[in-house]
Order: sequence, then structure tokens, then C-alpha cells
Amino acid sequence: MLVSIDQSCHPMPLFVEVALPVPMRQAFSYKVPDSISTLPKKGMRVKVPFGRQQLIGLVTGISDTCNLAPQQIKSIFELLDDEPLLPDSLYKLTAWAARYYFCSLGQMLSQAIPVALRKGAEISSNTTTFWHLTQSGRSASLDTLKRAPAQKKVMEHLLKGELTQDEISSLALSKSALKALNERAWITQDERVNSIDLSWREKLELDEDPLTLNPEQAIAVATLNQQTGYHCTLLEGITGSGKTEVYLALLESVLSKGKQALILVPEIGLTPQTISRFKSRFKVQVAVIHSGLTDNQRLAAWQQAKTGEAAIIIGTRSALFTPMAFPGVIILDEEHDSSFKQQEGVGYHARDLAVMRGHLEKIPVLLGTATPSLESLQNALSGRYKHLELGQRAGNAEKVRQGIIDISNQPLNTGLSHALLNEMRIHLDAGNQVLLFLNRRGFAPALLCHECGHLHECDRCDAFFTVHQSLGEIRCHHCGNHYAIPKQCHNCGSTMLMGQGVGTEQLANILEKEFPKYPVVRIDRDTTSRKGALEAHLNAIHKGEYKILVGTQMLAKGHHFPDVTLVGLLDVDGALFSADFRAPERFGQLYTQVSGRAGRARKPGTVLMQTHQADNPVLRELMHKGYGEFARGQLNERKQALLPPAWHMLLIRAEAHQALDADNFLSQVAELLPQNEESEVIGPMPAPMDKKAGKYRRHLIFQTKSRNQLQHAFEHALPQIESLPLAKRCRWSLDRDPQDLL
Ligand code: ADP
Ligand code: ZN
Ligand code: ZN
Repeated sequence: MLVSIDQSCHPMPLFVEVALPVPMRQAFSYKVPDSISTLPKKGMRVKVPFGRQQLIGLVTGISDTCNLAPQQIKSIFELLDDEPLLPDSLYKLTAWAARYYFCSLGQMLSQAIPVALRKGAEISSNTTTFWHLTQSGRSASLDTLKRAPAQKKVMEHLLKGELTQDEISSLALSKSALKALNERAWITQDERVNSIDLSWREKLELDEDPLTLNPEQAIAVATLNQQTGYHCTLLEGITGSGKTEVYLALLESVLSKGKQALILVPEIGLTPQTISRFKSRFKVQVAVIHSGLTDNQRLAAWQQAKTGEAAIIIGTRSALFTPMAFPGVIILDEEHDSSFKQQEGVGYHARDLAVMRGHLEKIPVLLGTATPSLESLQNALSGRYKHLELGQRAGNAEKVRQGIIDISNQPLNTGLSHALLNEMRIHLDAGNQVLLFLNRRGFAPALLCHECGHLHECDRCDAFFTVHQSLGEIRCHHCGNHYAIPKQCHNCGSTMLMGQGVGTEQLANILEKEFPKYPVVRIDRDTTSRKGALEAHLNAIHKGEYKILVGTQMLAKGHHFPDVTLVGLLDVDGALFSADFRAPERFGQLYTQVSGRAGRARKPGTVLMQTHQADNPVLRELMHKGYGEFARGQLNERKQALLPPAWHMLLIRAEAHQALDADNFLSQVAELLPQNEESEVIGPMPAPMDKKAGKYRRHLIFQTKSRNQLQHAFEHALPQIESLPLAKRCRWSLDRDPQDLL
């Protein structure tokens, strides 16, 4: 719908500033040609020429002057919207995020907008045009239209009732006939605002009765219900303590005030049970935004949230940017989960942006988890966040038995100790399920020559090939490079090649032989890549079709397996010893999460860890004191080491075909950054995997005592960094608050 504007009020020429999805940290100016009569507004999409391409960007400013030379300025092709796409709060959020993550506003905005809109899809307008007869049309005689059959046809249809513009088109009624009848004043049109069902705001209906809250839950809910405006709360509750029930109680009071709730979860496919609990409690529309949707379905869900039709919006990381007509609360479940941090492109953290969004929208934010990230824990302990704790399991679930199996000098059967095999047999024979974690997929993590000891290494990366026996291939998990399993050693020509180490594929094979009566299922990225495969596996597990579950970290997230009574962690040593300073924190979270999977339904659970490090203090502390104390200890260690969250970190990655280019570039960057008591530059140094896909990778770390110091120092250096000649010879990227140092 085009709105014509009075030229005298808007003196031409008119110029717009546009944010485009390109890395350049600037807005681009364009002229609005006379052929476009709608007045552009901040936040509308425009299609513009950019070099040889056409790009879609968002208007960020309007002015009647432009300091580009007239021959330099290009015109926009098209204005795609007649109202701004996002509410003001979300512009403020993206602008803040672009500055914080040192990316362009256009890049940040394109994270915030559904793909369909980025590609130029039309937003269905919220009004509909109706055609109907006028008074004189109703009393007119159709005989006078004998010579005008098209007009007669229109009149015959409209005599039966009014028609929308879409119906007119699908009946293929003539446009000129409509025009003629309109001029005769026999028919007329009007625009009506579409009715959006917002009845849930008037009266909230429940589909099931809430559980009676236990005292801890009741205190948490009462505290949350007292909050008005922005508050951030960390809900630290052990697995099974009834956090989801607290969310539901909070939702009830938010929804009954006519406000919407946005719920972010790490991965939709992995948490079907949680989602169905939200869906079955309230008689409201729930928009679930996940990666299985088509672009158009995603857009439809986005619009339901934007209009307020959907009372509850559930989604993963990117759903953070979903607009709400009546924002009420933001809840992040499993707030510690690293999938909330985007790893590719703009490395934003949905948890941190959720807190900022809460600020901007003046609504509360609730972060729930059994194993808080050290960042959130620090904020809770320092009083920036409210801290609520749930320390008891809500149902009658029993406490978990924990144990360490010392495998130093023990014979292992394909990575399994006798002690673990025996324990498995006891649980399986009792009719229960057993879950084994091994964070290495494939058959074997390396291919070894038995004669010369050569380990076959990817020719493009600093990494060993993983053997995938079922595929008959060796594969590099870092660049995708793959070959048929060689028959001879690349080094000495020997044919005595064997897998070194154990992956999930081999583990599942050996378990099938060891326990022929008990069906084995393997859950990793290789067995769940087909759409729907994960759901099918999970269903079969719940039906008890499998007794032994072998999986990577994927299996640790959010599942409830009531019949699993034994959980075994096989690769504890590998998880503890990693180059990443977050390794102990991550292990603590994994261990605690999987322990929570054992014995939930009134069956006592057991968790066993196989390790060569039976006396490792991290393991001991976790087992004897639990995650809460362990995490507080870790936080102190980070403070002493000046690591996040005590200090603030920016990781600058550079990669190049010549290692020297990346090294020199980062050395020059280091020169541009301040080094003093409150800010530190570490590197350049090789990345933990220093060659990947044929390129050499180098890291530089910039750390400061305060967030603002980092912001100001780096903002100051950035233009100089960008103009370094080597900046063009390397691929480089910035990762603020990096979660993964690989
Ligand atoms: P969490 O999200 O903390 O892991 P859940 O909310 O899933 O915990 O609760 C664990 C189990 O306890 C669920 O089966 C839930 O139905 C049950 N539960 C939670 N709160 C209560 C309660 N107040 N009374 C009885 N059962 C409860
Ligand atoms: Zn060899
Ligand atoms: Zn590789």
C-alpha cells in the first residue's frame, strides 16, 4: 500500500542512510528518487545498488542533505515496507550490540531479522481491502449491464456478499469493470484492520492444573512475581528441583496480565518434553521458532509474536530478537549452555543480549540452570542479579551414587574397564537402561601404523584423521577432508594399519558383541544428521527399545530418561585436559548435568567416571562438594589468574596461507593496543589447532580489567587496524567474550 505524501511538506531531494549487511562499519547514503512517493522511515527496508550487487538494508536515518558529490550518490531501487520492521527497543538493542561486538550495524541487524525478510519477502499487511455494493448499487437494475458482461459478473458476485481483494483476484474479476462500477458509485471499497485474536489477554485459561509448589518453589515464584520493570534473576536449581514448574508459575502471572513471554532454550530438537509442558499448560498460542522451519514458517511465527497473537514464544539463540507487542518476561533455560554464543560471524551471546533487552524493554529476565556459568554466578554473588536457589529434588527421586574407576594400569576392553562392564551388567539385568558418554565420534580418533608408529594426519590441518569404519573412510573433523581408508601406511608402506583409540562407533560395536541381549543405540552427529533421526531415536529410547545408549555431549542436554540408572563417563581425562581455560567449568557442567540424568523416576542412579587421574582435585571437589561449591572455587581461580569473568577478553583471530602474514598482522595489532596494569596483550601465538583447511591460524588476546576499558581502547584502535596493509592479506575476526579458544 503506497501512501502518497504532500510534496510541499517534504522538500525533495530526500536522502536516506542505510545499514547494509556488509562488514564495513558505516552507514551508506542514497537518494530517494521522485518515483518513490512513500516517505521512508527509520527501520524500513530498502533495496539498493551496492557495487554490482543489489542489497537489502534498513533505513537508519533520513535527511534532506547529503555530503556526497551528486554524481557519486545512487538512488534506492525500492522501499519494501510501509512501517518500521522492529520496535524501537530492538533497534537500540542491535545498535548497542553492534558497538559491543565491534561489527557493523547492518551485520547485527541482519542477525535480528528473519531470513525471509532479509531476502525481501513482503510482510503481510495488517489490513484487508473489502469490495461491496453501495445503496444505489443494491437498488440498481442489472438489465442495464447487458452490454457490459464483466461488470454484470462483478455485480452478481457482490450481490451475494462482499469480497476481499484476494477473492476478487482469485475469481479473475475484471479490474476495469471494478473501476467503472466504482465510478458509477454502485460499488465501493474500504480498508479494515485484520482482527487479531488477542482474547488470551482478556482472560487467561489453563488447560491443566498447576502442581502445588514446594516451599522453595513458592518462595522463588513469590519473589519473581513481586518484580516490576527490569530485574535479572539467576535461578540456580539442581536437576529435577522443579525449575520448569517455576517458569510455568511465573508465566501464569505474566500472561494473566496480558503480557507475552519469550523463552530461550539451547536446542529445540533436544528438549521436546520441556516444550510440550509449556504448550499443554495454557490455552494460548505458542510460537516455536526452530531450525526445522522453512523461512516462511519462521516469518509467520515472528509475525504472531509481533502482533501479540502468540502469547508464548519459544526459540533458540536467534529468537532473542523476536519482537513482542506486549513484552512481559524473558526466560533463558540452561543459561550456561555454550550454544547461546554464536560462533560463526557475529559472535553475540544471547544471554548477555537478553539481559540488555530486558533493560531496554523494562521487563524482568530469568536465567535458570542447575550449573550456572561463572559469568552469571559472579553477577549473582556480587548482587547485580537476584539469586534464587532450589536445593531439593521436586519429585521423590533418590540421590545419585557417584564413583571413580581408576583405570591406571588396568586392562581395558575397547576403552571399557572390567569394573564398568560388571556394573553395566548388573543394571541391565535388572531391566534398566545404561548411558555411556564418549565425546569422540567415529570408529577411532586416529589411524596408526603398527610397524613404524606413523599416525595419519590431515594434509590441510594440524589434526589426525578420524577412522569411520562404516563409511570405509578416514575423515578430518576440522575441514571435512576425507579419503578411503588407506591399505598401506603413508610413511613406510606397511599394511599393518589399525585404529588408535576408541570412538562412539567402535564403542557401540563392541557393546553389541559384549551384550548381545541388550540393543545398543548410538547418538552423535553422524547418526542424527538425517532430519527427524534424533527424534526417532529419542522416542525409541523412551519406549525402552534400546537398553544401552552411547552418545557424545549431545545426549547430555535436557533429556529425561527415567529408566537410565547407570551413567558412565569414559573420556574424563580428555575433557579435563584441554588448552581452554574453561575446560574445568565445562566438565563440571557436563558431569553435573549427566548425573542429573540418572535415576530420576524413583530409581536410584549411579554415575561412574573412568580416569587415570583418580586424585584429580577438580574431580574430587565436584563429587564431594557438588557443582555450586566447585564453581565458586573456580571463580576464585579465575580472579587470581585475571581471566574472565574477572577480567574482560577479546580474541583476535587471523588466518593466512603464509603463517608470517598472520603473525606480522597480529604483531602490528598488538602495537596499537595499550599495555599497562589494567590492560594486557597476549600473543600473537599459534591457535590450539595452528593449521586448519590449509591456512595458518594465529591468536592475539586483549584483556582489560573493566568492560569499558576494553570498549574504549579497542574502538580507538580499530580504524588503525583496519587500515593496516596486512589486514587485507589475512582473514581476521573479532570474538568478544570468547567461549571457545579453538
Ligand atoms: P527441572 O526443570 O529443575 O529439572 P522439573 O520442573 O522438570 O525440574 O521437575 C522435575 C520433576 O518434578 C518433573 O517431573 C515435575 O513434574 C516434578 N515436579 C516439579 N515441581 C513439582 C511439585 N511442586 N510437586 C510435584 N512434582 C513436581
Ligand atoms: Zn608405517
Ligand atoms: Zn583437515
